[in-house]
Amino acid sequence: MKRYFRAPGRINIIGEHTDYNDGYVLPAAIDRYVTLSIERTGRERIELSSAGREAITFGEGEIEPAGNWGDYVKGIFHVLKSVKKVEFGGLSIEIESTVPEGAGLSSSAALEVATITALNEVFGLSLTDEERYRLSQRAENEFVGVQCGIMDQFASVMGRQDSAIFLDTVSMEYEYLPLELGAYSLVVFDSKVHHELLSGGYNSRREEARKALEILGKKSYRDVSMVDLFSARPKMEDLYYRRAMHVVSENMRVLEVVKTLANSNYENLGRFLVQSHESLAYDYEVSCEEIDFIVDTLRNLNGVSGARMIGGGFGGSVLALCEKSEREKIVEVVRERYFKEFNIAMDAYEVRPSRGAGEIGE
Ligand code: ADP
Ligand code: MG
Repeated sequence: MKRYFRAPGRINIIGEHTDYNDGYVLPAAIDRYVTLSIERTGRERIELSSAGREAITFGEGEIEPAGNWGDYVKGIFHVLKSVKKVEFGGLSIEIESTVPEGAGLSSSAALEVATITALNEVFGLSLTDEERYRLSQRAENEFVGVQCGIMDQFASVMGRQDSAIFLDTVSMEYEYLPLELGAYSLVVFDSKVHHELLSGGYNSRREEARKALEILGKKSYRDVSMVDLFSARPKMEDLYYRRAMHVVSENMRVLEVVKTLANSNYENLGRFLVQSHESLAYDYEVSCEEIDFIVDTLRNLNGVSGARMIGGGFGGSVLALCEKSEREKIVEVVRERYFKEFNIAMDAYEVRPSRGAGEIGE
């Protein structure tokens, strides 16, 4: 019998590049999903297929990374085998997705979480929510080789309808915050560009942020105040100062936005999005020309409360908070100007905060 599971992609309202820096984040799962069907077969192998890609098969005794899309799925098999000693037998897994890849909405985490959620149910593994997101992260870190933080997998597992999740990535304490936007919409503008070679840019920012912390003489960014940062400035190279400035200021912005959401003050939220973007662009240097163009265009349009890049950066998407009544006009103008400037047809769509991964039809 075939069973169907799905796991959402995510947006992050604010708190970018903070999850691996002992910071705060504010993600929401969205109504875009990786959908996976799974069926036991009498064959000995695990067979993977995904619309429009090369099919992949592997035996349970030969789970090695191959440098292709199958690694995100295999990585889950790998971690489950090492912590739960499961015998999977023959399986056929088919994947479909409405989460665009490399667009900053974390298709990779959605794929991992869809896989672990399916295997958890089909093999009765009784994994907790926390095990599902932690093991998914571990698969991406250890098997795929991308040093992502915990936010993406966390959001894909824990998402809730019309809510964002305020997460402390140190204690892993979290709180759902209502994100019922009323007269506003969240709109994603996908630039369709990816300038990052493999995971180079992301991993090097991680390393620079770590080095900045070392220069500051602290164990955790949680112990770095703005005052610490100002007083360390004379002995810090400008690059490390700016990397640390982004982390410290972005964490402060997350806390401010949490207050703002409690009052449903969406005009204020937009201002923080813009500040976050400037910090990511100038201090953390993870934006690019195309993304800056989209943000600048949005900032000058009526009905836009604010906008910023989301995800790892070097391309991907912009998240904007727009007045609903103006949304269509805004999308049209940004699309047109973007095409004129870069000759690239962008994608733009509204997203809604949605619930986390689970079986379909339950
Ligand atoms: P993102 O920001 O979307 O997570 P990543 O580079 O981390 O970008 O992950 C994208 C990778 O995840 C793709 O290159 C592919 O290997 C894999 N992936 C994502 N969605 C799918 C899918 N529907 N089918 C197969 N592989 C996918
Ligand atoms: Mg990813």
